[in-house]
Amino acid sequence: MNSKFEVFEKNKNTLDKWVKLICGASNEDIDAIEDLSAIYSAAGVDYIDVAAEQSIAQAARNGIKWSKEFFGTSPGLMISICDGKDIHFRKAKFDPLKCPPNCPRPCENSCPTFAIDNYGVTESKCYGCGRCIKSCPLNLISEYEFNLTKDNLPSSLQTIKPDAVEIHTEINRIDPFIEVVRILKNTDTKLKTISISCGLNQSPQSPNDLLKAIWERYEILSELNLPIIWQLDGRPMSGDLAPTTGRDTVKLFETIGSHLPPGLIQLAGGTNGKTHELLNVNNFPDGIAFGSYARKIMQPFIEFANKNNKKLYEYPERMALAIKEAQKLLKPWKKN
Ligand code: SF4
Ligand code: SF4
Repeated sequence: MNSKFEVFEKNKNTLDKWVKLICGASNEDIDAIEDLSAIYSAAGVDYIDVAAEQSIAQAARNGIKWSKEFFGTSPGLMISICDGKDIHFRKAKFDPLKCPPNCPRPCENSCPTFAIDNYGVTESKCYGCGRCIKSCPLNLISEYEFNLTKDNLPSSLQTIKPDAVEIHTEINRIDPFIEVVRILKNTDTKLKTISISCGLNQSPQSPNDLLKAIWERYEILSELNLPIIWQLDGRPMSGDLAPTTGRDTVKLFETIGSHLPPGLIQLAGGTNGKTHELLNVNNFPDGIAFGSYARKIMQPFIEFANKNNKKLYEYPERMALAIKEAQKLLKPWKKN
């Protein structure tokens, strides 16, 4: 094993796996992000992954700081970027004036973040899961690209100074991927690791095509000389929908996991509190990332605090309960 991967060694072949909280590549709910970061930092995640914007990164850092002060745990901060059009980097919109007054509003009922009301979609609360788009019988809801670093990745890196970057890529997007890596190479920001998120969800290709694309990226990434995380994305932004939504990422891991280039293998996309049950106990990946499910189980706690214009950690008893819930989610993956 190359020494640049030593940072991950503790996670390999032990019960103490690498766990990441995904706050959402398009999620701008600052208050929720601060609380989520505090809760999951205290519960023991290794990294927190947020949208690439200064105020969002600061919210996550505030949560991490709280955890460091009270629990001594301080995960790294990762920002998510993409090398092209990607469903993680979008939002939904519609014109409420076009809606019939008698519509039973399936869009509103399907939204996990309560982003929809009579006035349309509240942009800051939408993270682009797409459920409302499919739900509208009149096809009134459309999506639009929401890429915070589209035109200025170097300046975002300089302002945010993250510990790590995750690049969302697709099989056929090799040239834009090379360009993103070139920018990362030329930045002054000292990254500790780089994560590559890819799956088959946006491409009709086979697992072998994906494997080939990942090896191509491994060659390109070698010039950064950083430890790499391969994030296998199964069914994006769906972990809160049903216990078995982690099947796609588990299947992908079982198909190509043992053939991936050096690095840490992490599951994402549909992951939740049941994903470990879908895995063979003798063949766990090196880590897991929890997104929509991790956020959903905290929603009642966070909404209670937000309604009172406070942070959850201003309610110690409720905060303790929230951390306990988060620890339950992490338990199959963490020794302590
Ligand atoms: S359902 Fe998803 S895409 Fe639609 S508004 Fe809510 S978060 Fe956004
Ligand atoms: S489901 Fe469609 S028509 Fe009904 S309220 Fe939502 S956007 Fe309007």
